[in-house]
Amino acid sequence: MSKKDALSAMLEQYQTNSETKNNQVKKYDLKNYFSTHLGPKETTATKRIRILPTTDDSTPFKEIYGHKVQVEGEWKTFICLKHEAQQDCPFCEANDALRATGNDAQKELAKKYSAKKMYVVKVIDRDNEKDGIKFWRFNHDYRKQGILDKIFGILQAVQKDITNPETGRDLLIILARDQNNRPAVQTISHLDPTPLNADKALEQEWLSDERTWKDVYAIKPYEFLEIIVKGGVPVWDKIQKKFVDKISVMEKEKNDVAAEDITIGVPNVKPNITVSTSPALPVVTNANDYDDDGSDLPF
Ligand SMILES: [Zn+2]
Repeated sequence: MSKKDALSAMLEQYQTNSETKNNQVKKYDLKNYFSTHLGPKETTATKRIRILPTTDDSTPFKEIYGHKVQVEGEWKTFICLKHEAQQDCPFCEANDALRATGNDAQKELAKKYSAKKMYVVKVIDRDNEKDGIKFWRFNHDYRKQGILDKIFGILQAVQKDITNPETGRDLLIILARDQNNRPAVQTISHLDPTPLNADKALEQEWLSDERTWKDVYAIKPYEFLEIIVKGGVPVWDKIQKKFVDKISVMEKEKNDVAAEDITIGVPNVKPNITVSTSPALPVVTNANDYDDDGSDLPF
């Protein structure tokens, strides 16, 4: 089995395990997401995309706010409830509470919980056109060295609408590893003008797609995010019908096992619960670590 197959298998497993938990969990179809991920042994890669125009002539780069945090060692993005759903958000509440202390160290810690600006744009991945439209989510970069800045550099150079279906341009993205060995978009350049697609029926299908980022990125409920903010890992408890911290489930199982006086072997774990020997808390060592590796998948 190749690495890619193993990855697909793991992601499918996750999807299967997520689907039945409750109706708040979206069904993730990997085809919906464009990613700038590099495989473990890849040092560089080239991708070719076409940004789709919007149906109402608005900017194709939709601004959203999310929180980034490590859960079990992996960087995850959670849509901010306050900015995107006008609801109470546990991350924003933690940020406000820490800032309100007036203490410099606490204010520094508050950054970990602040909402980060991101963009979502709909693209066609030229290497996987059969997948149809993909959503690409990436971070805003206050240093002006981010993905949007690179694309805007192209807009300023060509002074043309690169999303135009007839006269727009494909973009060539070169990925490489940065000084921390994380995948990063190194350069983005443009190709000569070409139609979006020679097949006009398919082109029309793409152009009339009205899905937005909300159709493919889940907005997690308050209870779910609260567990993350407290350093836990949310799992769905079928009996209580709510999200609970994985550690509490593990401790309960340990007690159950002790009560049954099992002395040999490993107790069965409940389906949907992955037992880790080292449940990791979100770890942030310094301000520069408030970042993901660029492989921004929706879960
Ligand atoms: Zn928030």
